[in-house]
Amino acid sequence: MTQLNPKVEQRVQELRQLLQKASYAYYILDNPIMEDAVYDQLYRELQELELQHPELVTLDSPTQRVGEKPASQFSSVRHNIPLYSLENAFNLGEFTKWQERWQRHVLTLNQEDKRDEETRGPGDAGTRGRGDKGDGGDKVLSKSATPSEYICELKIDGSALALTYENGVLVRGVTRGDGITGEDITQNVRTIRSIPLRLNLEQPPAVVEVRGEAFLPLDVFEQINLEREQAGEPLFANPRNAAAGTLRQLDSRIVAQRRLDFFPYTLHLDTQELINLHLYSQWEALELLASMGFPVNPHRQLRSSSQEVEEYYNYWDTNRHNLPYMTDGVVVKLNAFAIQEQLGFTQKFPRWAIAFKYPAEEAPTLVEAISINVGRTGALTPLAHLQPVQLAGTTVQRATLHNKDFIAQLDLRVGDTVIVRKAGEIIPEIVRVLPELRPSDTQPFQMPSHCPVCGSQVVRQEGEAVTRCINTSCPAILKGAITHWVSRKALDINGLGEKLVEQLVDQSLVLSVADLYDLTVEQLTELERMGTKSAEKLVSAIANSQIQPWSRVLYGLGIRHVGSVNAQTLTEQFPTLEQLAVASPADIEGVYSIGTEIAHSVSEWFQLKSNQILIDRLREAGLQLAAKAETIAEIPSQPLSGKSFVITGTLPTMKREEAKELIQQAGGKVSNSISSKTDYLIVGENAGSKLEKAQKLGIHQLSEQQLLKLLKPNLG
Ligand code: NAD
Repeated sequence: MTQLNPKVEQRVQELRQLLQKASYAYYILDNPIMEDAVYDQLYRELQELELQHPELVTLDSPTQRVGEKPASQFSSVRHNIPLYSLENAFNLGEFTKWQERWQRHVLTLNQEDKRDEETRGPGDAGTRGRGDKGDGGDKVLSKSATPSEYICELKIDGSALALTYENGVLVRGVTRGDGITGEDITQNVRTIRSIPLRLNLEQPPAVVEVRGEAFLPLDVFEQINLEREQAGEPLFANPRNAAAGTLRQLDSRIVAQRRLDFFPYTLHLDTQELINLHLYSQWEALELLASMGFPVNPHRQLRSSSQEVEEYYNYWDTNRHNLPYMTDGVVVKLNAFAIQEQLGFTQKFPRWAIAFKYPAEEAPTLVEAISINVGRTGALTPLAHLQPVQLAGTTVQRATLHNKDFIAQLDLRVGDTVIVRKAGEIIPEIVRVLPELRPSDTQPFQMPSHCPVCGSQVVRQEGEAVTRCINTSCPAILKGAITHWVSRKALDINGLGEKLVEQLVDQSLVLSVADLYDLTVEQLTELERMGTKSAEKLVSAIANSQIQPWSRVLYGLGIRHVGSVNAQTLTEQFPTLEQLAVASPADIEGVYSIGTEIAHSVSEWFQLKSNQILIDRLREAGLQLAAKAETIAEIPSQPLSGKSFVITGTLPTMKREEAKELIQQAGGKVSNSISSKTDYLIVGENAGSKLEKAQKLGIHQLSEQQLLKLLKPNLG
């Protein structure tokens, strides 16, 4: 136990209040105030804190209860056997830990039994392990040959129901409630068509309880929300809450209209009945449920190792999105009843089952600090440093905050708990702040007034969201400029990594990219971890960059808005630097595909004295500031200049990318969608809707061959 700190106590209080509020909204109002993944994460945080500080645990803590007390509209029913929750595993490691835990538990129980037996002596009638019904059923229940076999089921995201059948007739349907007491919703349950009112058994048992998940198929859920939207009613947050809300409707006619569905997953019978029916496993129980007339989920499977369980889990990770209902994980259970009996339950969960959940794409975490990064354009980008959090399988520790406006919109402060999201490949982003968890001493975030790297005053131009450092010799800007200059698409200089650039700038060896060309082997060998060979290699790599064409030099200068494609276009129109340097914004804008913003940016760049000095030095260093003479002569006439193209379908000999490149080389423009401005549609095989649209708009269509004819002057 670690020492108690008032901050921990405060956090525990905050978490409890928030979780209680969320639980109430979720279970009673069927209208959650936060995402499940967020709830789970906060719940875990509370669990962790309570584990470290057991003196803080209270009986009413959300970690001590299952669900919520039932609401008062329906009469309460005490469950004969509590409806437990399931323990969660959020990754393979946690699943493996559960596996080790149950195996250890079995081992301990077996050792205890052995000791008991030795004390009692042989011949004494055995009690049945840990089960509460020591009626001799153990011999039958332990018949299963493979005690470690798993059954994998989909975890249906709905609402648990307990159905009681007496002599084969449905007499009661009860919600889970808090696990001990639920609500009697029999009238509503009778409206669910997939729940049999009478069991399909010739000799039904006197009493049987069937438990399972009532759920709303996704299309029904969407339809309900559509209708609610049209009626101006609040929408259900997800199918699970919609199902729970529907089940607890007072008017069962509404329930009947909503087409709830049901998958059973447990069967509770008297031990003698289990023996009579030869039921030894969960698998057999599900088979029996199917023959009784229940729609048992068809995707259940038996698995014999954790590797096989993992395969099942991975398979459904992708394929669950094709199911007509929601699943949020898979439930893994030990198949044999004998071992289930032996393992029994904790306060809240069966020890023999676990919900192996799919990774959350959203989770809450704390903003520990906000730092400012200065990029090569001088833009100051705030970056949130987060308490590490697992998200969609990776650890997230940082998220960009973009700019001042973004932070203001979120009202984000250091010390806040925020929701981070990572969907698919997308980099993590902060989606919102949980103001309920904000500590009292936080301050609104202020963008610095001075550059954190060079200390000069920063500016924010009107209409721009970005705050910038405009000191061209700011080391941060310089480092960025050099890294850009040596990059693959620019001067492509090998051997100048981030660390080395940092050293060169920090030791004032390089104050502009032109200084790279003055570096000597002697100077470089003075640097950390730089041998003579590497230094020689680097000096010659820098010198070799003199052969790179003018278009790459232009791109390498890092003029705002001039990417490698624009640089190529500009150098085709302005084959020498002198021509470009004196061109007016209007001249530059005259080039096809170059917009006003780029034109102004280029023109302004060349007017700056410091840039003119840089250019002079680059010329002295021998860099190419003009297209080679023969290239100039060869500059093709631009047969497709000013023409706009769209390509659809598969072309007979060329890939679309190749066609696109040829068109662009000939001065044409290629876009992805048809509009009235499109001049030609290049049509290949299996052309889609673009062809239809082009026909409607009366746009010229060309085959690949016709395109090649148009291009001919360029190809010849
Ligand atoms: P749970 O939903 O994570 O898992 C247990 C339930 O899974 C069972 O009761 C059963 O109904 C269901 N289930 C589905 N398929 C099953 C199968 N094949 N076999 C066995 N059971 C199956 O746990 P819970 O205790 O019902 O609810 C806790 C969860 O509720 C939390 O993890 C959280 O995500 C959510 N919750 C969210 C909020 C919120 O504000 N968003 C608030 C409270 C709870």
